[in-house]
Amino acid sequence: MKYTKSIKLFSEAVKHIPGGVNSPVRAFKSVSLDPLYISKAKGAYMYDEDGNKFIDYVGSWGPMILGHARKEVIGRINAMAKNGTSFGACCAEEVKLAKLIKKFVPSLELVRMVNSGTEATMSAIRLARAYTGRNKIIKFEGCYHGHADSFLIKAGSGAATFGIPDSPGVTKAVATDTLTAAYNDIKSVKKLFRENKNKIAAVMIEPIAGNMGCVRADKRFLRELKDLCRNEKSLLIFDEVMTGFRVAKGGAQEIYGIKPDLSTFGKVIGGGLPVGAYGGSKKIMSMISPSGPVYQAGTLSGNPLAMAAGFETLNIIDKDKSFYSKLEKSSAYLEEGIRGAVKSLGLNYTLNRAGSMFTLFFSESPVTDYAAAKKSNTVKFAKYFREMLFNGIYLAPSQFEACFISISHGKKELDNTIKAVYKALNMTK
Ligand SMILES: *Cc1c(COP(=O)(O)O)cnc(C)c1O
Repeated sequence: MKYTKSIKLFSEAVKHIPGGVNSPVRAFKSVSLDPLYISKAKGAYMYDEDGNKFIDYVGSWGPMILGHARKEVIGRINAMAKNGTSFGACCAEEVKLAKLIKKFVPSLELVRMVNSGTEATMSAIRLARAYTGRNKIIKFEGCYHGHADSFLIKAGSGAATFGIPDSPGVTKAVATDTLTAAYNDIKSVKKLFRENKNKIAAVMIEPIAGNMGCVRADKRFLRELKDLCRNEKSLLIFDEVMTGFRVAKGGAQEIYGIKPDLSTFGKVIGGGLPVGAYGGSKKIMSMISPSGPVYQAGTLSGNPLAMAAGFETLNIIDKDKSFYSKLEKSSAYLEEGIRGAVKSLGLNYTLNRAGSMFTLFFSESPVTDYAAAKKSNTVKFAKYFREMLFNGIYLAPSQFEACFISISHGKKELDNTIKAVYKALNMTK
């Protein structure tokens, strides 16, 4: 594969942008390649500056559930743009989107639009702290909730009580307020509650994790988490930035039948434009300014273009009664194909899938938490990634990410992918 234009662009980019990229994982560092520069995308495909064509399983890291450049979505954005791109004032589109989101996710009575998933999670914990009058939050090892200070914390080898800053620049004071538990391990959460009686404002979790690779929460674990939060008078926050409108119309909370106190959204909700949102009951959400004292604002929040793209995306999903069953069918087909390839090569890798999210872990043990995910052979993964790319398949360039299937991935694309998986795994053995 020739990608000289991308290499040239990247060598220029590093002179002007930190690490050459505007979001770290795009740098392809963990797979020892220079990143590709994408010039266009349509349906299940992306094209780079050198004219290489790829079947895309990143989907802009989740948003492109319809596939790229869907006609109706682009049409709505174009029509809206003709009337202006930002008003810094109220617009009809934001009301339409809020109503549709509430229809999809019954736990929401009020929903506030922001511009990214990071803003949504950051605002949700501020609100949880204000509502409970407590400072500490619990998150889970391997879960990602955006890049706000409070979330860039991981547990130091089991010593979960005291947060250790994961990133320089996060102060110790902030780190102390973030406690880390082990995913799918209710005992580790109970321990934190015992040690921090009446101090925990909220527990935030990806109800299906995508950011340590795809890892499902155990049903019983989530139920116990919900009960624990209720008993301890802490809020349960589902971070559905990735799972919202992805794993089901109503997100992971629909699948598990659990109503969180607050939910955060992003990715699909913006249909490829920058949107995030957070919401919950009227009682809690009414604390947000200007109906309440908790300040949270945004110059571009509820931006008409972004609202139009989000609305049209969700509207298409809403009108197609068999949308998620079709997506599940293609996803199951791909899963079966990949499993077949793995098995026929005498390998025993773990494939986790939740709807149209999946990760092939280069590990022979089940992956149910971060510690297990970390056991994967990342050197083999990197080799596999490169082989897949050179065979025209664009995967997430990290073992600890989920891949996404869109409604535009048809039988032809899936069959070509399965063939490439076989070839790439064979080279990687
Ligand atoms: C992507 C993601 C975020 C952060 O969203 P951004 O829009 O990148 O700020 C937060 N939480 C989860 C679960 C995510 O997958």
